Amino acid sequence: MADQVNFGDELVTPDEKTRRVAKVFSSVARRYDLMNDLMSGGMHRLWKHRFVDRVKPRAGEDILDMAGGTGDIAFRMARRGARVTVADINRDMLEVGKERAERRGLPGLSWKQENAEALSFDDNSLDAYTIVFGIRNVTDISAALREAHRVLKRGGRFYCMEFSSSDWPGFSDLYESWASKAIPRIGKLVADDEDSYRYLVESIRRFPRPPAFRTMVADAGFVRAGADRMLGGLVTIHSGWKI
Ligand code: SAM
Repeated sequence: MADQVNFGDELVTPDEKTRRVAKVFSSVARRYDLMNDLMSGGMHRLWKHRFVDRVKPRAGEDILDMAGGTGDIAFRMARRGARVTVADINRDMLEVGKERAERRGLPGLSWKQENAEALSFDDNSLDAYTIVFGIRNVTDISAALREAHRVLKRGGRFYCMEFSSSDWPGFSDLYESWASKAIPRIGKLVADDEDSYRYLVESIRRFPRPPAFRTMVADAGFVRAGADRMLGGLVTIHSGWKI
């Protein structure tokens, strides 16, 4: 990996990026779900629903929801009968997730603190690996993709949802202005934390474009690595198979 990596628009050492990302998510954990609704106008619920439809979790499957945070994706997959492990590097995000799962009476979920770059799971042990709005925060993305490939069984499915940039005329400008101006302001008002939300916006802008990320997924060993764009490309679902 390079000596310097992007933390939003800033260049920092890889260790510093991991530390600062941890600080961002510890700071936003308690307001994370409310902020998701405010920042996306509730759209994130629709995207997540659509994502889980693509994954098609089945009863009895073992699925790892990596960077699973407060559990939104895991809850939807567990309701379909899959055994889901929510893994995240950040203990504060996991704590909020566990409390939400208890309130909703959702059994069958496991929670683990894990770094996506170096997983504790056995080789060839999982039916599916999901990561939603998480991978752009990982310091060494290629290492995380290699780990996803290692832990999946043959025939296992990889699914990742990330922001990308829209090519609908006018929409991308509108989105850019919303993201760069409004989101940090909402972050300040609601969570008293403008900087964390500025980082989140910058990290979206810095994330590789879908064709480049698709190549990274294929380089990690996944076949039929594909990218399906939603909402004119604002959000993309990347997928691949381990054979
Ligand atoms: N997947 C959840 C969702 O869609 O609501 C949470 C997404 S949140 C934007 C990003 C998550 O990535 C945070 O919970 C953060 O702690 C986690 N994360 C960042 N770097 C990570 C790493 N190296 N390994 C595991 N999780 C990581």
